[in-house]
Amino acid sequence: MPEDREPNAAEAASVNIAPHVLIAGAGIAGLTAALFLAKSGWRITICDREPTLAEVGAGLQLAPNATRLLQEIGIVDDLDDIAVEPNALKVWRGLNGEQMASAPMGKKAHERFGAPFLVTHRADLQNALIKRVNTHPDITLRLGLRLVDIRESEASIAGLFEVDDGPEIRIEADLLVGADGLWSRARTLAGLPAPPRYSGKTAWRTIIPREEAPVFAREADVNLWMGPDAHLVHYPVCGGRDINVVAIIEDDWRDEGWSAPGNPDVLASRFRSWCNKARDLVGAAESWKRWALVDRAPESRWSRARMTLLGDAAHPMMPFLAQGASQGIEDAAVLSTLLRKVHREGFPLATALRQYDTVRIPRSARVQKAARQQGQIYHFDGIKASLRDTALRMLPGDTLMQRFAWIYEHNALGPDV
Ligand SMILES: Cc1cc2nc3c(=O)[nH]c(=O)nc-3n(C[C@H](O)[C@H](O)[C@H](O)COP(=O)(O)OP(=O)(O)OC[C@H]3O[C@@H](n4cnc5c(N)ncnc54)[C@H](O)[C@@H]3O)c2cc1C
Repeated sequence: MPEDREPNAAEAASVNIAPHVLIAGAGIAGLTAALFLAKSGWRITICDREPTLAEVGAGLQLAPNATRLLQEIGIVDDLDDIAVEPNALKVWRGLNGEQMASAPMGKKAHERFGAPFLVTHRADLQNALIKRVNTHPDITLRLGLRLVDIRESEASIAGLFEVDDGPEIRIEADLLVGADGLWSRARTLAGLPAPPRYSGKTAWRTIIPREEAPVFAREADVNLWMGPDAHLVHYPVCGGRDINVVAIIEDDWRDEGWSAPGNPDVLASRFRSWCNKARDLVGAAESWKRWALVDRAPESRWSRARMTLLGDAAHPMMPFLAQGASQGIEDAAVLSTLLRKVHREGFPLATALRQYDTVRIPRSARVQKAARQQGQIYHFDGIKASLRDTALRMLPGDTLMQRFAWIYEHNALGPDV
């Protein structure tokens, strides 16, 4: 078996070489972690099972808790022409098209939370991260390598990777970070038991060119439509050239991918009792991709010896607070702060990883729980829906965002670590 031999931490220290971290998974969390860890003085090898990181996915919302961190690694500037800073969050009643609330975003939210809310295409964010990763002298990105196993010793850890047409590859490092998403192999290798929890909901997503979208959907706003057993979210992406639409419906279908085709007629039938605007929006798309919504219960630890997790591998969550990517970005920032101490101050790795778990698990678990609850609220029917809607109509717009200030104003580079 070919071995990509790296000096281990002790050897590295003796010749003053930076310690080496191996990241499995080049999604948003893994790539962000690579850039943060490089700032902390580590050398990084980041591997993804995909031979090319193709333009997959659709819209992602980036809240101030994430953009404040992305600013630190230059990514917000890179997204300047591509990401959109929405003006408002507008909440609509799906059955009759009534606008029930509008919360200011844009400049006001930027000032309030100290960083912008942005909406972007997942592929645009991933490409911006890859560009930085590819030009960084301390980061090596390797594609077509699927993590299958690990070998551990006291002094190092090795990841074993399958490649399509060749022998297994072994890459040795001081630390292995599993950033391999919802169906994480690293998580299994770390012995973490929480099974996937199917939510009984599926997400259907599509991108509609701006000029083909209904006029009301072209505004630079994030829109949320709520109705019995379903909701819709839409906002512009790609500098406003396209409109990202996600429909969430109650549905027990299960599949592990992100890109199963969805039948537009089936979706349209689920919205047939909704108002014209909502039906026009659903009907404007020619094709849909769908995925089953899955999370896992929080664990009491993510780390062991020379291994840890981040992003969806650690804390997959429902998308109803749009925090999946943002929480992975927080993980990356916290881990890099602690690993800087390992490299520069001789802080023990075990202590750093313990602290990482202590800081990150309660926060991501709180967001996971809040996201699950939010999904129930969006799909209320009958009296519960009436009470929710009355409260929304009475609530000043600012208060709507304020409810989640604990998420948005958080600074993962702050004094907790
Ligand atoms: C293809 C795809 C499309 C998505 N589309 C959307 C979307 O449209 N909207 C949305 O809100 N969220 C989407 N997501 C999810 C969203 O990106 C994540 O929830 C969030 O960004 C957290 O990112 P992550 O890096 O932890 O995980 P992910 O984004 O899932 O990235 C994990 C990475 O690990 C790689 N990987 C998996 N197993 C292995 C292995 N054994 N060895 C090596 N590499 C491995 C995967 O190829 C992937 O690149 C998508 C994710 C993926 C992978």
